[in-house]
Amino acid sequence: MGSMLRIAGIERESIVDGPGIRFVVFAQGCKHRCRGCHNPQTHSFDGGTLVDIDEIMSMICKNPLLDGLTFSGGEPFEQAKTFAELAKMAKSNNLNIITYTGYRYEEIMEGLPSKIGWEDLLRQTDILIDGKFDIKQKSMLLKFRGSKNQRAIDVEQSLKQEKIVLAEL
Ligand code: SF4
Repeated sequence: MGSMLRIAGIERESIVDGPGIRFVVFAQGCKHRCRGCHNPQTHSFDGGTLVDIDEIMSMICKNPLLDGLTFSGGEPFEQAKTFAELAKMAKSNNLNIITYTGYRYEEIMEGLPSKIGWEDLLRQTDILIDGKFDIKQKSMLLKFRGSKNQRAIDVEQSLKQEKIVLAEL
């Protein structure tokens, strides 16, 4: 039996949560309370369903067409250690990882020393879409982002260059 994740749901094949065909896991539990949040049912930390990550992985393995795995929310960083474990398994199956978070990259960097699993999840993530959804900066023209303040960050390059490097999407 693998570690358990509290999830709001899954989407087995999505083309709107990052490039290519993606399996999406929606985390249950979020403290950010963005005004205009599209998924308020994901805020409660008691709601959703507990699922074994081995079960999620076996669903992922059934689809050879997948390009990647996306973590959305809810807030994946509230269960960072387990999402990182799942990401690691998916990456060994050649899937890339996109993580959506309401935290800004700078806040995540600050939290790395003290928050359980944050470093693991950040390092397993290829592209981080960061920052709260801001209804005032909402735009339908942004690729895979809801509002203009959110950034698509190339995590490997950002860590290497010690500055934010944006990803090409
Ligand atoms: S981070 Fe996402 S799930 Fe959480 S309140 Fe903001 S938009 Fe909603």
